[in-house]
Amino acid sequence: MSSYETAERYFNRAAEVMGISDNMSKLLKTPQREVKVQIALEMDDGQISTFIGYRIQHDKSRGPMKGGLRFHPEVDAGEVLALASLMTWKTAVVNIPYGGAKGGISIDPSKLSPRELEGVTRKFVDEIHDIFGPDTDIPAPDMGTNAQIMAWIMNQYEKYHGYNPACVTGKPVELHGADGREEATGRGTAIVTRSALLKMNKPVEGARIAIQGFGNVGSFAAEILHEMGAKIIAVSDAYGGIRNQDGLDIPELMKFIKEHKKVEGFLNSENIDNATLLAADVDVLIPAAIGGVLTGENAHDVRAKLIVEAANNPTTPEADDIFERKEILVIPDILANAGGVTVSYFEWVQNRQHFKWEIEEVRKRLEKIMVDSFDRVWKIADEKSVSPRIAAYILGIGRVGRATVLGGI
Ligand code: GLU
Repeated sequence: MSSYETAERYFNRAAEVMGISDNMSKLLKTPQREVKVQIALEMDDGQISTFIGYRIQHDKSRGPMKGGLRFHPEVDAGEVLALASLMTWKTAVVNIPYGGAKGGISIDPSKLSPRELEGVTRKFVDEIHDIFGPDTDIPAPDMGTNAQIMAWIMNQYEKYHGYNPACVTGKPVELHGADGREEATGRGTAIVTRSALLKMNKPVEGARIAIQGFGNVGSFAAEILHEMGAKIIAVSDAYGGIRNQDGLDIPELMKFIKEHKKVEGFLNSENIDNATLLAADVDVLIPAAIGGVLTGENAHDVRAKLIVEAANNPTTPEADDIFERKEILVIPDILANAGGVTVSYFEWVQNRQHFKWEIEEVRKRLEKIMVDSFDRVWKIADEKSVSPRIAAYILGIGRVGRATVLGGI
């Protein structure tokens, strides 16, 4: 099943519970605009390469559209559309004044030199600068992109439109970025993990956790959950995984990864493969890497009682059904990883006000939004006897639907 079909399946389930008409469902699901561009680049060896870039703007009824840019070889129109729609529901779940969008380039950034990466980024902006901006659509980092790439985007955009730091978020802190943006997705994940554990009558202190993916999201989630007193038993990255039944020394692992660029070989740990990590004997499993990792094939092996989706779209509907039958609680992506876009919103607000917030302010406001959003989703799940995923969709779709009708069709 494609990622779009997955996202649509969840939407349809929530729409059914809400009693939304087919016409309204169609209106809410259909994207505003889909843009596909060619990016031609002269590589370092003098050869010409051609890449395809996308920006899909899904919904703008609640504000300017918002969402990341993904540089990954598997980027295609279907995946970008699915992720754009997730952004619409995500910004609505945490109630920040944005719609949803997503973009990307079908490219493997690890195979490009820094000069080539900068070139492809700037050329992409040349193609789409007219359709994004601080009041229309604001890109941000996602898989394969980072603060440096956001700085190039801002710089290239400003060549056309003049000084405008709010045209993109997730920038370096030295160049109009917000303190706390880099850690924000992982911090938000940690906060909702603690809230969900509390509902299960289990304190975060001593909770045993496995994290798949040790990039920007997984590593910060690990660090912050470790600070909260949890035991991170196993982690993995694209090259392999490691485990220590007594808990990994996360501050040391953060130093280790900076130097070695992978988790394997870390002190006091045994190597494990991906399947072993997903089936680890833990309280919480956090998928924080790519989509579609929990499937009908491996869902039966999961032993965690709580899954917190730090990645976008990590669970297929088949796996989701199995988790529901096995009473494994799943906190969905559109809530669990919404900390990133929330602090993107704070960055945009600071850029527009030309006033920088202290990191304590950023963390305090993020904490409140994540805790309140979790509680609201939980309440809907309780009242309507649905999973937290369907409850989050009900909350998001309800807000977008009401804004659409109030604005006038
Ligand atoms: N790419 C992140 C996400 O999927 C962040 C988007 C943003 O900050 O706009 O939520």
